[in-house]
Amino acid sequence: MALTIDSPIQYVKGVGEKRATLFHKLDIVTVGDLLCHYPREYEDWSSACSIEDAPVDTLCCIRARAVTSPTERRIRRGLSLFQFAASDGKAAMQVTIFNNKYAAAKIKAGDEYLFFGKVDTRYFKREMASPQIEPVSGDIHGMRPIYPLTGGLTSRAIEKVVKTALDTLGDAAGEEFLPAFVREQYGLCDRMTAVRLIHFPQSRADVEKARKRLTFDELLLLQLGLSRLRSGGKTPTGAVVKAGLAEKAKSLFPFALTGAQSRAVDDCLADMQSGFAMTRLLQGDVGSGKTAVAAAVGYAAVKSGLQVAMMAPTEILAEQHAKTLEKMLAPAGVSVGLLTAGRTAAEKRAVKEGLADGSLSFVVGTQALLSDSTVFSNLGLVITDEQHRFGVAQRAKLAAKGGNPHTLVMSATPIPRSLALVIYGDLDISILDELPAGRTPIRTYAVGGDKRERVLNYIKKFVAEGRQAYIVCPLVGDDEDEETFDQTSKSAIGTYEDLKAGALSDCRLGLLHGRMKPAEKEAVMAAFSKGDVDVLVSTTVIEVGVDVPNAVLMVVENADRFGLAQLHQLRGRVGRGEYASDCILISDAHGEEVKRRLGVMKDTTDGFKIADEDLKLRGPGDFFGNRQHGLPHLKIAALSENMAMLEPVREAAAALLPHLHEPDYAPLAGQVDRLFATVGENGLN
Ligand code: ADP
Ligand code: MG
Repeated sequence: MALTIDSPIQYVKGVGEKRATLFHKLDIVTVGDLLCHYPREYEDWSSACSIEDAPVDTLCCIRARAVTSPTERRIRRGLSLFQFAASDGKAAMQVTIFNNKYAAAKIKAGDEYLFFGKVDTRYFKREMASPQIEPVSGDIHGMRPIYPLTGGLTSRAIEKVVKTALDTLGDAAGEEFLPAFVREQYGLCDRMTAVRLIHFPQSRADVEKARKRLTFDELLLLQLGLSRLRSGGKTPTGAVVKAGLAEKAKSLFPFALTGAQSRAVDDCLADMQSGFAMTRLLQGDVGSGKTAVAAAVGYAAVKSGLQVAMMAPTEILAEQHAKTLEKMLAPAGVSVGLLTAGRTAAEKRAVKEGLADGSLSFVVGTQALLSDSTVFSNLGLVITDEQHRFGVAQRAKLAAKGGNPHTLVMSATPIPRSLALVIYGDLDISILDELPAGRTPIRTYAVGGDKRERVLNYIKKFVAEGRQAYIVCPLVGDDEDEETFDQTSKSAIGTYEDLKAGALSDCRLGLLHGRMKPAEKEAVMAAFSKGDVDVLVSTTVIEVGVDVPNAVLMVVENADRFGLAQLHQLRGRVGRGEYASDCILISDAHGEEVKRRLGVMKDTTDGFKIADEDLKLRGPGDFFGNRQHGLPHLKIAALSENMAMLEPVREAAAALLPHLHEPDYAPLAGQVDRLFATVGENGLN
């Protein structure tokens, strides 16, 4: 049977069963997987330098003739050196091979070789120790691939198998699936060339050429797959919201909605009146007022005879939402139930009965909402808050409790729109890009560690005025994993103990971190929320969502250790009430980069601007690095380096999508199917 890219890896000549299991460890099961196992870097054998000019202690390639045959020197039992002289006509060097009789035996005086390794100078003599050696007459000349490895498989072994596979497959290794006009428009080489060059380039330029095409392909297939899911995925639903509710829905609040809030409500209502299930992402910076949008939309659903469920990631957030929503909605005749693990059995039973018989229309809860005993009579709208805490599967599970209910996903992680469209390609997006008027801006200061004393006095001053403060540290405890332990960073536990015994002994201190049990965390948060704790020493667990308007000071220790988007989330914990608030970023680190980053925090409170900066500085690893979004794994497209490619890719995807079902585009459609086959059935819902 002819080898295809779908053949199992052991069908490649030279790969036996044992080798195959090593490949499996690298997630390489088929020949296609092997070809997508891209080199992580390259050894440059293409630009040989002279012995004289070889940079010292840097990997380089030298072309020279063996002047003598290797002579063996026994150092001790089991250790032999083989040494010979080589010359490029202008200068000479000594080459040493350690303990490798076979390699040494291949060297013939008079023949020319390529030596790849590091040159050293000893007593004015140039020397190369255990270089890789290839005959000039052989076929190693260009860039040699260095592959991500597993134990038992060397880069050379992988290289050989890739070469065999490419040779055996011929043109079948890179079936062209992009129409010529697209390749032309975006200056892309053909697929076969790209597949060959990424493994066996002759030069840096070849690598770039191959990367450009393969990255484009990957992003395009992703984009096409997501768009297809979205447009083909509109599910008809009986949950239809009545027209004419918008005005009342928008006037439930003691304030007027911002323009952005009002538009978001309109977007949602239009979706929910359409007869198709809404799948919408509501993205808004901290404090942009997502809760009010949820309330307005939920109100319209309830008044149309539908039930609404809102899921929050923690009990404290669920409680807070329930309280806020109840206040907004009760006057309009909608009561809001709360369902969390912490409620009494009787309370839980009452809420569940109300949901089952339809007498309760709006419920807020935690994961408890997902339990099998929670049954709805007519669930029509599912709202999830702080989406990144939930997996797609959980979202889907809640939605499955109704007959194609609408879903609204709320996220406070500001992501530039271009990236959001990639990540949340299966969702429509409404963005709250406007803060309610009249907020007192939070003042942000970046200070050195020598100011800690003054910062503590500042905290005391606020506490004396009856206000509260947060101190956030990068580590939990000082006993952290010895290997990775970072002596220069503050821990929450250490800081808490120090302050309690020292500078802040007069204040009521609380401690919160991720190693505590959920119930302990809830208790501490509740105490802080009630005002029973003055200063909360914490890790980033407080990052998400809590609303304590009396907390007016956010102090972040070792601020340089955090991403800007994360600092922004932390800062969003203050400035939520009537008092002017401050954020103090403490850092012992010097250097321009740190100054610049913290400078961005000082200069802007716009979450989207900050997210953009963060992306530029760190890349979107946080957003795209894991697979919790249920997206296919990207092999080559490091988005940070390819932000500029997102626009062209979207443009191409939009042009291609309407044709995807046509016979001429079958190869492209097939590739999209292939990429998404790995995601699984309920990956994207
Ligand atoms: P987030 O988007 O971070 O969840 P919230 O919904 O918690 O924001 O709203 C933050 C605060 O702003 C709340 O106290 C809320 O009452 C208030 N708020 C929301 N919308 C407006 C508005 N249009 N005008 C004035 N205040 C508003
Ligand atoms: Mg919120």
